[in-house]
Amino acid sequence: IRVRPLTCTETRRGDQQVVHSLGDGAVHVSAARHDATFGFSAVFDAGASQEAVFEGSGMRQLVELAIDGFSCTVFAFGQTGSGKTYTLMGPLAQSETQAASPALLGLMQRSFTCLLEQSWSRGSDLVLSASYLEIYNEQVRDLLSPGPPCALPLRWSKTRGFYVENQLSVEFQSLEAIVSLLLQGVRHSIPPPAGSQRRRTSAHALNRHSSRSHALLTIHIRSRAHHPPSTWVLQASACPSKQGTLCFVDLAGSERVKETGSSGELSVEANSINRSLLALGHCISLLAKPRGKRTHIPYRDSKLTRLLARSLGGSGITLMVACISPSSRCLSETLSTLHYASRARRVTTRP
Ligand code: ADP
Ligand code: MG
Repeated sequence: IRVRPLTCTETRRGDQQVVHSLGDGAVHVSAARHDATFGFSAVFDAGASQEAVFEGSGMRQLVELAIDGFSCTVFAFGQTGSGKTYTLMGPLAQSETQAASPALLGLMQRSFTCLLEQSWSRGSDLVLSASYLEIYNEQVRDLLSPGPPCALPLRWSKTRGFYVENQLSVEFQSLEAIVSLLLQGVRHSIPPPAGSQRRRTSAHALNRHSSRSHALLTIHIRSRAHHPPSTWVLQASACPSKQGTLCFVDLAGSERVKETGSSGELSVEANSINRSLLALGHCISLLAKPRGKRTHIPYRDSKLTRLLARSLGGSGITLMVACISPSSRCLSETLSTLHYASRARRVTTRP
Protein backbone atom coordinates (compact mmCIF):
# COMPACT_ATOMS: atom_id res chain seq x y z
CA ILE A 1 0.00 0.00 0.00
CA ARG A 2 1.27 3.46 -0.78
CA VAL A 3 -0.30 6.46 0.91
CA ARG A 4 0.57 9.70 -0.85
CA PRO A 5 0.98 13.00 1.02
CA LEU A 6 -1.95 15.42 1.17
CA THR A 7 -1.78 17.76 -1.83
CA CYS A 8 -1.59 21.55 -1.43
CA THR A 9 -5.24 21.85 -2.38
CA GLU A 10 -6.27 19.24 0.17
CA THR A 11 -4.23 20.92 2.90
CA ARG A 12 -5.53 24.39 2.02
CA ARG A 13 -9.16 23.40 2.24
CA GLY A 14 -8.48 21.66 5.56
CA ASP A 15 -9.06 18.01 4.65
CA GLN A 16 -8.55 15.65 7.57
CA GLN A 17 -5.94 12.93 7.31
CA VAL A 18 -7.82 9.68 7.88
CA VAL A 19 -5.20 7.09 6.90
CA HIS A 20 -2.32 6.19 9.21
CA SER A 21 0.40 3.61 8.90
CA LEU A 22 0.82 1.63 12.14
CA GLY A 23 4.04 -0.11 11.12
CA ASP A 24 4.53 -3.81 10.35
CA GLY A 25 2.28 -3.63 7.31
CA ALA A 26 -0.77 -2.39 9.19
CA VAL A 27 -2.74 0.57 7.97
CA HIS A 28 -5.51 2.24 9.96
CA VAL A 29 -8.43 4.18 8.56
CA SER A 30 -10.37 6.29 11.03
CA ALA A 31 -13.20 8.66 10.28
CA ALA A 32 -16.57 9.55 11.76
CA ARG A 33 -18.34 6.25 11.12
CA HIS A 34 -15.43 4.11 9.96
CA ASP A 35 -12.67 2.60 11.95
CA ALA A 36 -10.77 -0.23 10.35
CA THR A 37 -7.31 -1.77 10.29
CA PHE A 38 -5.93 -3.70 7.32
CA GLY A 39 -2.80 -5.82 7.05
CA PHE A 40 -0.50 -5.94 4.02
CA SER A 41 3.01 -7.05 3.11
CA ALA A 42 4.20 -3.46 3.31
CA VAL A 43 2.76 0.01 3.82
CA PHE A 44 4.54 3.15 2.62
CA ASP A 45 3.26 6.36 4.13
CA ALA A 46 3.54 9.94 2.93
CA GLY A 47 7.16 10.23 4.06
CA ALA A 48 8.39 7.20 2.11
CA SER A 49 10.83 7.98 -0.69
CA GLN A 50 10.68 6.47 -4.15
CA GLU A 51 13.81 4.51 -3.27
CA ALA A 52 12.19 3.13 -0.11
CA VAL A 53 9.27 1.89 -2.19
CA PHE A 54 11.60 0.25 -4.71
CA GLU A 55 13.66 -1.48 -2.01
CA GLY A 56 10.80 -2.31 0.34
CA SER A 57 8.22 -3.61 -2.12
CA GLY A 58 10.21 -6.52 -3.48
CA MET A 59 10.63 -4.80 -6.84
CA ARG A 60 14.36 -5.53 -7.00
CA GLN A 61 13.72 -9.24 -6.44
CA LEU A 62 11.07 -9.13 -9.15
CA VAL A 63 13.63 -7.78 -11.63
CA GLU A 64 16.06 -10.55 -10.69
CA LEU A 65 13.38 -13.20 -11.06
CA ALA A 66 12.47 -11.84 -14.50
CA ILE A 67 16.13 -12.19 -15.52
CA ASP A 68 15.97 -15.78 -14.29
CA GLY A 69 13.14 -16.44 -16.72
CA PHE A 70 9.96 -15.80 -14.70
CA SER A 71 6.99 -13.72 -15.83
CA CYS A 72 6.83 -10.84 -13.40
CA THR A 73 4.21 -8.12 -13.22
CA VAL A 74 3.75 -5.06 -11.09
CA PHE A 75 0.50 -3.21 -11.25
CA ALA A 76 -0.55 0.09 -9.75
CA PHE A 77 -4.17 0.25 -8.65
CA GLY A 78 -6.18 3.08 -7.12
CA GLN A 79 -8.44 6.03 -7.84
CA THR A 80 -7.34 8.87 -10.14
CA GLY A 81 -4.90 11.15 -8.36
CA SER A 82 -3.85 8.55 -5.77
CA GLY A 83 -0.25 8.32 -7.04
CA LYS A 84 -0.18 5.35 -9.45
CA THR A 85 1.78 7.08 -12.20
CA TYR A 86 3.98 8.84 -9.64
CA THR A 87 4.86 5.49 -8.07
CA LEU A 88 5.66 3.88 -11.42
CA MET A 89 7.34 6.76 -13.25
CA GLY A 90 7.86 9.61 -10.80
CA PRO A 91 6.90 13.12 -11.86
CA LEU A 92 8.28 12.47 -15.38
CA ALA A 93 4.88 12.29 -16.95
CA GLN A 94 3.96 15.74 -15.67
CA SER A 95 6.71 17.75 -17.28
CA GLU A 96 7.97 17.30 -20.80
CA THR A 97 10.86 19.69 -20.73
CA GLN A 98 12.48 19.15 -17.36
CA ALA A 99 14.09 15.88 -16.43
CA ALA A 100 12.98 14.56 -13.06
CA SER A 101 15.44 14.66 -10.18
CA PRO A 102 17.04 11.21 -9.71
CA ALA A 103 15.57 10.89 -6.21
CA LEU A 104 12.07 11.08 -7.68
CA LEU A 105 12.46 8.39 -10.32
CA GLY A 106 9.80 5.72 -10.04
CA LEU A 107 9.75 1.94 -9.92
CA MET A 108 10.11 1.70 -13.69
CA GLN A 109 13.32 3.69 -14.12
CA ARG A 110 14.81 2.05 -11.01
CA SER A 111 13.99 -1.38 -12.42
CA PHE A 112 15.50 -0.46 -15.81
CA THR A 113 18.72 0.60 -14.08
CA CYS A 114 18.85 -2.58 -12.03
CA LEU A 115 18.16 -4.69 -15.13
CA LEU A 116 20.82 -2.98 -17.24
CA GLU A 117 23.41 -3.23 -14.47
CA GLN A 118 22.78 -6.96 -14.31
CA SER A 119 22.89 -7.16 -18.06
CA TRP A 120 26.27 -5.39 -18.27
CA SER A 121 27.75 -7.50 -15.50
CA ARG A 122 26.79 -10.63 -17.43
CA GLY A 123 28.46 -9.52 -20.63
CA SER A 124 26.20 -9.53 -23.69
CA ASP A 125 24.16 -12.50 -22.56
CA LEU A 126 20.87 -10.69 -22.16
CA VAL A 127 18.79 -9.48 -25.08
CA LEU A 128 16.33 -6.83 -23.93
CA SER A 129 13.32 -5.54 -25.79
CA ALA A 130 10.20 -3.59 -24.88
CA SER A 131 6.61 -3.37 -25.98
CA TYR A 132 4.10 -0.80 -24.80
CA LEU A 133 0.35 -1.16 -25.11
CA GLU A 134 -2.69 0.64 -23.86
CA ILE A 135 -6.23 -0.59 -23.48
CA TYR A 136 -8.62 2.22 -24.22
CA ASN A 137 -12.34 1.63 -24.66
CA GLU A 138 -11.69 -2.12 -24.81
CA GLN A 139 -9.30 -1.67 -27.72
CA VAL A 140 -5.67 -2.69 -27.53
CA ARG A 141 -3.36 -0.08 -29.08
CA ASP A 142 0.35 -0.13 -29.70
CA LEU A 143 2.02 2.91 -28.13
CA LEU A 144 5.36 2.36 -29.86
CA SER A 145 4.24 2.06 -33.46
CA PRO A 146 4.45 5.32 -35.37
CA GLY A 147 1.35 7.00 -36.76
CA PRO A 148 -2.12 7.25 -35.28
CA PRO A 149 -2.97 4.50 -32.79
CA CYS A 150 -4.75 1.58 -34.37
CA ALA A 151 -6.42 -1.34 -32.63
CA LEU A 152 -4.57 -4.65 -32.56
CA PRO A 153 -6.26 -8.06 -32.28
CA LEU A 154 -5.88 -10.04 -29.08
CA ARG A 155 -5.60 -13.77 -29.77
CA TRP A 156 -5.14 -16.99 -27.89
CA SER A 157 -3.03 -20.01 -28.69
CA LYS A 158 -2.26 -23.16 -26.78
CA THR A 159 1.45 -22.46 -26.62
CA ARG A 160 1.44 -18.71 -26.01
CA GLY A 161 -1.80 -18.16 -24.10
CA PHE A 162 -3.31 -14.74 -24.79
CA TYR A 163 -1.15 -12.51 -26.95
CA VAL A 164 -1.43 -9.37 -29.03
CA GLU A 165 -0.90 -9.86 -32.73
CA ASN A 166 1.56 -7.60 -34.56
CA GLN A 167 2.67 -5.69 -31.49
CA LEU A 168 5.93 -3.91 -31.92
CA SER A 169 8.83 -4.99 -29.78
CA VAL A 170 11.90 -2.73 -29.75
CA GLU A 171 15.35 -3.82 -28.63
CA PHE A 172 17.29 -1.54 -26.29
CA GLN A 173 20.71 -1.57 -24.66
CA SER A 174 20.86 1.60 -22.59
CA LEU A 175 18.88 3.45 -19.97
CA GLU A 176 18.44 6.43 -22.32
CA ALA A 177 16.95 4.17 -24.97
CA ILE A 178 14.35 2.53 -22.73
CA VAL A 179 13.43 5.81 -21.02
CA SER A 180 12.92 7.39 -24.41
CA LEU A 181 10.64 4.49 -25.43
CA LEU A 182 8.69 5.07 -22.22
CA LEU A 183 8.32 8.79 -22.98
CA GLN A 184 7.40 8.07 -26.57
CA GLY A 185 4.63 5.78 -25.34
CA VAL A 186 3.38 8.27 -22.74
CA ARG A 187 3.15 11.00 -25.41
CA HIS A 188 1.58 8.65 -27.91
CA SER A 189 -1.16 7.66 -25.52
CA ILE A 190 -2.50 11.21 -25.51
CA PRO A 191 -5.17 11.67 -28.15
CA PRO A 192 -4.14 14.16 -30.85
CA PRO A 193 -5.65 17.57 -30.14
CA ALA A 194 -8.80 18.46 -31.99
CA GLY A 195 -8.24 21.14 -34.63
CA SER A 196 -5.17 21.69 -36.68
CA GLN A 197 -2.83 23.34 -34.21
CA ARG A 198 -0.81 20.97 -32.09
CA ARG A 199 -0.70 22.25 -28.57
CA ARG A 200 1.62 21.20 -25.84
CA THR A 201 -0.22 18.62 -23.83
CA SER A 202 -0.93 19.76 -20.33
CA ALA A 203 -0.52 17.60 -17.26
CA HIS A 204 -4.26 17.88 -16.85
CA ALA A 205 -5.00 16.48 -20.29
CA LEU A 206 -2.51 13.71 -19.69
CA ASN A 207 -4.11 12.70 -16.43
CA ARG A 208 -7.59 12.87 -17.91
CA HIS A 209 -6.59 10.47 -20.63
CA SER A 210 -4.41 8.19 -18.54
CA SER A 211 -7.13 7.82 -15.95
CA ARG A 212 -9.30 6.36 -18.73
CA SER A 213 -6.84 3.84 -20.11
CA HIS A 214 -4.72 0.98 -18.87
CA ALA A 215 -1.07 1.15 -19.94
CA LEU A 216 1.17 -1.93 -20.05
CA LEU A 217 4.89 -1.73 -20.64
CA THR A 218 6.50 -5.15 -21.01
CA ILE A 219 10.23 -5.82 -21.00
CA HIS A 220 11.19 -9.09 -22.65
CA ILE A 221 14.42 -10.56 -21.33
CA ARG A 222 16.07 -13.31 -23.32
CA SER A 223 19.25 -14.80 -22.00
CA ARG A 224 21.34 -16.48 -24.63
CA ALA A 225 22.80 -19.84 -23.84
CA HIS A 226 26.57 -19.67 -23.69
CA HIS A 227 28.33 -21.95 -26.15
CA PRO A 228 32.08 -21.83 -26.41
CA PRO A 229 32.83 -23.68 -29.71
CA SER A 230 34.63 -26.72 -28.30
CA THR A 231 31.95 -27.73 -25.82
CA TRP A 232 28.97 -26.63 -27.85
CA VAL A 233 26.75 -29.66 -27.39
CA LEU A 234 27.41 -30.07 -23.72
CA GLN A 235 26.96 -26.40 -22.92
CA ALA A 236 23.80 -25.99 -24.93
CA SER A 237 22.04 -28.71 -23.01
CA ALA A 238 23.50 -27.74 -19.65
CA CYS A 239 22.52 -24.09 -19.94
CA PRO A 240 19.34 -23.62 -21.97
CA SER A 241 18.29 -20.12 -22.94
CA LYS A 242 15.72 -18.46 -20.72
CA GLN A 243 12.99 -16.01 -21.46
CA GLY A 244 11.47 -13.82 -18.77
CA THR A 245 9.20 -10.79 -18.79
CA LEU A 246 8.78 -7.78 -16.57
CA CYS A 247 5.49 -6.01 -17.04
CA PHE A 248 4.45 -2.65 -15.57
CA VAL A 249 0.74 -1.90 -15.53
CA ASP A 250 -0.66 1.56 -14.83
CA LEU A 251 -4.37 0.88 -14.42
CA ALA A 252 -7.17 3.32 -15.19
CA GLY A 253 -8.63 5.19 -12.20
CA SER A 254 -10.69 2.86 -10.04
CA GLU A 255 -13.26 5.47 -8.99
CA ARG A 256 -16.83 4.90 -10.00
CA VAL A 257 -17.27 7.11 -13.01
CA LYS A 258 -20.55 8.99 -12.86
CA GLU A 259 -22.42 8.41 -16.03
CA THR A 260 -25.15 10.95 -15.48
CA GLY A 261 -24.69 13.99 -17.64
CA SER A 262 -21.64 12.68 -19.43
CA SER A 263 -21.44 12.86 -23.18
CA GLY A 264 -21.59 9.76 -25.37
CA GLU A 265 -17.83 9.38 -25.54
CA LEU A 266 -17.42 9.68 -21.79
CA SER A 267 -20.07 7.14 -21.03
CA VAL A 268 -18.46 4.61 -23.40
CA GLU A 269 -15.17 5.22 -21.56
CA ALA A 270 -16.84 4.88 -18.18
CA ASN A 271 -18.49 1.63 -19.20
CA SER A 272 -15.30 0.04 -20.45
CA ILE A 273 -13.27 1.06 -17.40
CA ASN A 274 -15.93 -0.16 -15.02
CA ARG A 275 -16.28 -3.36 -17.01
CA SER A 276 -12.54 -4.14 -17.09
CA LEU A 277 -11.82 -3.23 -13.45
CA LEU A 278 -14.91 -5.18 -12.38
CA ALA A 279 -13.73 -8.15 -14.44
CA LEU A 280 -10.29 -7.85 -12.83
CA GLY A 281 -11.85 -7.67 -9.36
CA HIS A 282 -14.07 -10.65 -10.16
CA CYS A 283 -11.13 -12.77 -11.35
CA ILE A 284 -9.17 -11.78 -8.24
CA SER A 285 -12.06 -12.73 -5.93
CA LEU A 286 -12.38 -16.14 -7.59
CA LEU A 287 -8.61 -16.71 -7.58
CA ALA A 288 -8.48 -15.83 -3.88
CA LYS A 289 -10.65 -18.85 -3.04
CA PRO A 290 -8.90 -22.04 -1.98
CA ARG A 291 -7.81 -24.08 -5.00
CA GLY A 292 -10.30 -26.89 -4.38
CA LYS A 293 -13.25 -24.50 -4.33
CA ARG A 294 -12.28 -22.60 -7.43
CA THR A 295 -14.58 -22.41 -10.37
CA HIS A 296 -13.77 -21.34 -13.90
CA ILE A 297 -11.91 -17.99 -13.94
CA PRO A 298 -13.54 -15.66 -16.49
CA TYR A 299 -10.38 -14.10 -17.98
CA ARG A 300 -12.23 -13.65 -21.25
CA ASP A 301 -14.55 -11.04 -19.74
CA SER A 302 -12.25 -8.16 -20.66
CA LYS A 303 -9.10 -7.38 -22.63
CA LEU A 304 -7.35 -6.41 -19.42
CA THR A 305 -7.94 -9.75 -17.70
CA ARG A 306 -6.93 -11.63 -20.86
CA LEU A 307 -3.63 -9.77 -20.99
CA LEU A 308 -3.06 -10.24 -17.26
CA ALA A 309 -4.22 -13.87 -17.13
CA ARG A 310 -0.76 -15.31 -16.73
CA SER A 311 0.31 -12.73 -14.15
CA LEU A 312 -2.84 -13.17 -12.12
CA GLY A 313 -3.42 -16.83 -11.83
CA GLY A 314 -0.93 -18.81 -13.77
CA SER A 315 2.81 -19.05 -13.56
CA GLY A 316 3.55 -15.39 -12.94
CA ILE A 317 4.88 -13.50 -9.93
CA THR A 318 2.89 -10.36 -9.25
CA LEU A 319 3.25 -7.28 -7.12
CA MET A 320 0.25 -5.04 -6.65
CA VAL A 321 0.86 -1.52 -5.43
CA ALA A 322 -2.44 -0.09 -4.22
CA CYS A 323 -2.27 3.69 -4.04
CA ILE A 324 -4.47 5.73 -1.72
CA SER A 325 -4.99 9.34 -0.69
CA PRO A 326 -4.98 10.10 3.05
CA SER A 327 -7.74 12.70 2.69
CA SER A 328 -11.13 12.40 4.40
CA ARG A 329 -12.75 13.33 1.08
CA CYS A 330 -11.44 10.17 -0.54
CA LEU A 331 -12.60 7.90 2.29
CA SER A 332 -14.99 5.68 0.36
CA GLU A 333 -12.58 5.18 -2.57
CA THR A 334 -9.77 4.47 -0.12
CA LEU A 335 -11.81 1.81 1.67
CA SER A 336 -12.79 0.23 -1.61
CA THR A 337 -9.14 0.15 -2.75
CA LEU A 338 -8.08 -1.43 0.57
CA HIS A 339 -10.76 -4.12 0.25
CA TYR A 340 -9.77 -4.80 -3.37
CA ALA A 341 -6.11 -5.09 -2.36
CA SER A 342 -6.93 -7.38 0.58
CA ARG A 343 -8.61 -9.78 -1.82
CA ALA A 344 -5.69 -9.57 -4.24
CA ARG A 345 -3.32 -10.43 -1.43
CA ARG A 346 -4.97 -13.83 -0.98
CA VAL A 347 -4.29 -14.90 -4.56
CA THR A 348 -1.48 -17.40 -5.00
CA THR A 349 0.22 -18.31 -8.25
CA ARG A 350 2.53 -21.19 -9.15
CA PRO A 351 5.62 -19.63 -10.65
P1 ADP B 1 -2.71 8.76 -10.61
O1 ADP B 1 -1.74 8.26 -11.64
O2 ADP B 1 -3.09 7.70 -9.63
O3 ADP B 1 -3.92 9.40 -11.23
P2 ADP B 1 -0.64 10.67 -10.02
O4 ADP B 1 0.51 9.74 -9.91
O5 ADP B 1 -0.76 11.45 -11.27
O6 ADP B 1 -2.01 9.90 -9.75
O7 ADP B 1 -0.59 11.62 -8.73
C1 ADP B 1 -1.47 12.73 -8.55
C2 ADP B 1 -0.67 13.92 -8.01
O8 ADP B 1 -0.13 13.64 -6.72
C3 ADP B 1 0.51 14.27 -8.90
O9 ADP B 1 0.62 15.66 -8.92
C4 ADP B 1 1.70 13.64 -8.19
O10 ADP B 1 2.89 14.34 -8.46
C5 ADP B 1 1.29 13.75 -6.73
N1 ADP B 1 1.84 12.62 -5.95
C6 ADP B 1 1.37 11.35 -5.99
N2 ADP B 1 2.06 10.55 -5.13
C7 ADP B 1 2.98 11.34 -4.55
C8 ADP B 1 4.00 11.12 -3.54
N3 ADP B 1 4.21 9.90 -3.01
N4 ADP B 1 4.76 12.18 -3.18
C9 ADP B 1 4.55 13.41 -3.71
N5 ADP B 1 3.61 13.67 -4.64
C10 ADP B 1 2.83 12.67 -5.06
MG1 MG C 1 -1.97 8.20 -13.71
